[in-house]
Amino acid sequence: MRLLEDTILKEGTPLSDSVLKVDTFINHQVDPSIMKEIGKAFADYYREKHIDKVVTIETSGIAPALFTAEELAVPLVILKKQTSKILGDDVVQTNITSFTKGTSYELTLSRKFISPGDNVVIIDDFLANGEAASGASKLIEACGGHVEGIGILIEKSFQKGRNRLVEAGYKVTSLARISHLAKGVIEYCEADL
Ligand code: 5GP
Repeated sequence: MRLLEDTILKEGTPLSDSVLKVDTFINHQVDPSIMKEIGKAFADYYREKHIDKVVTIETSGIAPALFTAEELAVPLVILKKQTSKILGDDVVQTNITSFTKGTSYELTLSRKFISPGDNVVIIDDFLANGEAASGASKLIEACGGHVEGIGILIEKSFQKGRNRLVEAGYKVTSLARISHLAKGVIEYCEADL
């Protein structure tokens, strides 16, 4: 997606050869006009696929996922990051190691928000090692839902996430795909949309 790729080049700051800072328009300050365009792009792609719910992971995925859900006229479900296990029949949890923080958390979903047979699209800001997206998929499937696809804003294609998800049978659609990252350098390979 040209708009996103151009904005990343203009405003993104590579902090190392594996971490990109995008706090001016995605995950600290948020640019609603770009998020709206992202929502439209994902919604156009998933419109014919009979999506019942959009699912994201708090916090950075919420803005683009909300615009996607609004365009598709379906609910948005936000997976919560808990630091401790909550026991009970009404939630499903899986442990995730955070790529940026190196710490782990319990990704949590209340069963009441995904029904058996729900067709779901997952939207998240970054794809690195695929931990968050794999965990989200696992929780949706534990509730009987089907993961129709995984929509990513910024895929770091030099990391293992995409291959891991594709090998597990998921369809990944990324708006920007970074092939190489270094201080002062952001290079792309061809995006999916
Ligand atoms: P994964 O679970 O695929 O290893 O990592 C994805 C998650 O880690 C995303 O939800 C995102 O919050 C965070 N993340 C991964 N790489 C980056 C990055 O380069 N920059 C930022 N800001 N967050 C990242």
